[in-house]
Amino acid sequence: MEISKAQRQFFTRNLMSWHHTDNDRNLPWKSEKDPYKIWLSEIILQQTRALQGLPYYQRFTESYPTIRHLAQAPDEEVFRIWQGLGYYNRCKNMLATARHIAEELKGKFPSSYDEILALKGIGPYTAAAISSFAYGLPHAVVDGNVYRVLARYFGIDTATDSTEGKKLFHQLAGDLLHNQDSAAYNQAIMDLGAMVCTPQKPDCENCPLQKHCIAYHKGIISLLPVKTKKLVVKTRYFHYLLLTNNDKLWIHKRAEQDIWENLFEPLLIETSDEVDDITATDQFKRLKLNEGLEYIGKAKQRLTHQLIHFSFYRLHYQPANHPLPKDGIWVPLKELNNYGFPKTIVSFLEKIFYF
Ligand code: SF4
Repeated sequence: MEISKAQRQFFTRNLMSWHHTDNDRNLPWKSEKDPYKIWLSEIILQQTRALQGLPYYQRFTESYPTIRHLAQAPDEEVFRIWQGLGYYNRCKNMLATARHIAEELKGKFPSSYDEILALKGIGPYTAAAISSFAYGLPHAVVDGNVYRVLARYFGIDTATDSTEGKKLFHQLAGDLLHNQDSAAYNQAIMDLGAMVCTPQKPDCENCPLQKHCIAYHKGIISLLPVKTKKLVVKTRYFHYLLLTNNDKLWIHKRAEQDIWENLFEPLLIETSDEVDDITATDQFKRLKLNEGLEYIGKAKQRLTHQLIHFSFYRLHYQPANHPLPKDGIWVPLKELNNYGFPKTIVSFLEKIFYF
């Protein structure tokens, strides 16, 4: 596809000029030069909106002002602070990377793109962001915002999730980069995508790129960017039994290889279909936990690839009639705050037990 030099120059010049005069997006990690804090913000913001990530960034930087502080923190404590952000593998990788840097690299964050890319949990986007924001290296970030701005402005209908599309957009992003100020350029294109060229109802009237924007002039904004893969969402049914005994709740740590790895949860029975009567399920019968069972409510949570339907039940535990799985612990209700739980579960527990 043919893109003229004039069209490219207009793009970079006007984007930079908008950034210096009209970009009023204010986030605490903007203009940050400490690679540790930039890395923290980027890890938190993967799959998370900036406003949602903001309090987490503040809590992490206050609790762990340096990478050594984070590396020395106990897993449970870090997972508790992370609670609610989802995608717990990010947290696990973040801890592994902090410990690797603290122990193997003497606490010094790597300063080249390739070394940064080699760290656990860091892909090309995050490596480009850290290299340019912390060290001014000429690497262009390419995320969802960037795909959208470039696809619309240049009128590109190649699918962004195809091999050809990824190559094309990365090449173009690199060509457009303002080499003298890669940090400002990267910030500008991300902010324009987040604030002006938004997925729905972009603010074209106030866009610095409007004059030469192909999607705007052809009236094809809603058709771009193009994606080939359709998201497949799996539906799951989680039935939680809040087993209490003398102001204690039975919980256990979730196993690996599933969502919410390393977080805690009450006793779970999962079914592949919706069930009218949970006590009739095989798993429930096996546990013999039906005497005095009380249904207390339901909830729903949408993850990127999963839709979880929750139902919650409460039962006062009678040791005589049902052995529990061995991996659980009884935790005093007032100490539940010390454990990390998935977002929906913690909201429910807070409501029921007021901790
Ligand atoms: S003119 Fe509209 S569609 Fe084009 S880049 Fe600007 S905001 Fe996006």
